[in-house]
Amino acid sequence: MTNSETVFSKIIRREISADIVYEDDLVLAFKDIASQAPFHVLLIPKKVIPSLSNVTPADQELLGHLLLTAHQIAKEAQLENGYRIVINNGADGGQTVYHLHLHILGGRQMQWPPG
Ligand code: AMP
Repeated sequence: MTNSETVFSKIIRREISADIVYEDDLVLAFKDIASQAPFHVLLIPKKVIPSLSNVTPADQELLGHLLLTAHQIAKEAQLENGYRIVINNGADGGQTVYHLHLHILGGRQMQWPPG
């Protein structure tokens, strides 16, 4: 395990288990272990990118794929009433796992501001 690797790398390699809901060549989605909503899935790139602060123009296609896939996952979960996508970035952003991930949250009314 290199320094840039996290628990999410272990999930990608199936070294620890997760409730996987979607996978393709580029991304993996699985249920958050500490769900904050009736539907709470994490969508991650298989490429190790610690945070949104670390993306480069070379990641443009991957970032688009993540957003399109997030919507597809929400659609298949029948979140037609809406959902929220969250990317926590860095310490002040509340990021705790340094492998870029999108939270897909739904199934209840979200509040704003998020606090
Ligand atoms: P963040 O605070 O944005 O970095 O979010 C990290 C998320 O990863 C949290 O919501 C955790 O509950 C979640 N998490 C941490 N470890 C696991 C795991 N092994 N399986 C699923 N979700 C996890």
